[in-house]
Amino acid sequence: MARTVLVTGGNRGIGLAIAQAFAKQGDRVAITHRGSGAPEGLFGVQCDITDSAAVDAAFAAVEAELGPVEVLVANAGITDDTLLLRMSEEQFTRVVDTNLTGAFRCAKRASGKMLRARWGRMIFISSVIGLYGGPGQVNYAASKAGLVGVARSITRELGSRNITANVVAPGFIETEMTAVLPAEKKAEYVKAIPAGRLASADEVASVVTWLAGDGAGYISGAVIPVDGGLGMGH
Ligand code: NDP
Repeated sequence: MARTVLVTGGNRGIGLAIAQAFAKQGDRVAITHRGSGAPEGLFGVQCDITDSAAVDAAFAAVEAELGPVEVLVANAGITDDTLLLRMSEEQFTRVVDTNLTGAFRCAKRASGKMLRARWGRMIFISSVIGLYGGPGQVNYAASKAGLVGVARSITRELGSRNITANVVAPGFIETEMTAVLPAEKKAEYVKAIPAGRLASADEVASVVTWLAGDGAGYISGAVIPVDGGLGMGH
């Protein structure tokens, strides 16, 4: 059954791979972007997820074009790494406001229509760093760990209405976000990953589409790692 899917930050990187995977299986797919426009075949809405009025307007535009959002993929996110001693409060707050509060804004806006439909899927793109931690990533790790609490609370609140909320925690994926890592840092990570390699964005997308499907209807509040074994033991 075709669903209406919204992927935040679906204009590039992991979000784009997720959006394309849903589109490929015949779903109606909308993505948010911040001015780049939408890749071909996807319905684009401009939205900065740090602005609740913009989130509301984006959902309204998707609803008018494709119908109520049935599957929300809260993917948009940023990093702003620096050591704790040097991290400004603004750096901490900005990352949390985007990655965690941004996901909350979208989930809250999506929940009304999901409740009415008595069906919904929320998938939060976290990171292995959320539970593993990372030097220089106090802000990012806090925001990504926070998503686990969000998904688990939504599960307890809305689980009886056929709404699931899950977290996907990717390890190191080949995107623009990791392209900026110095080569020696990348080699260090690869050494620590049991799979011995970074992953492609498609390897995250396939897990997300599966979680949104009927076969995963009894999975909620889960943290699904897609990290080649890096975070084992979480
Ligand atoms: P990219 O940097 O390639 O893309 C980030 C996306 O988020 C872009 O679409 C960007 O939009 C969007 N975005 C950032 N800030 C905002 C905002 N305020 N409002 C709306 N959209 C925003 O990242 P990836 O594809 O690598 O990462 C996607 C998600 O996966 C992130 O949440 C990231 O933390 C997570 N992740 C990534 C890993 C990796 O190895 N790459 C590993 C683990 C998790 P725009 O184009 O306008 O900038």
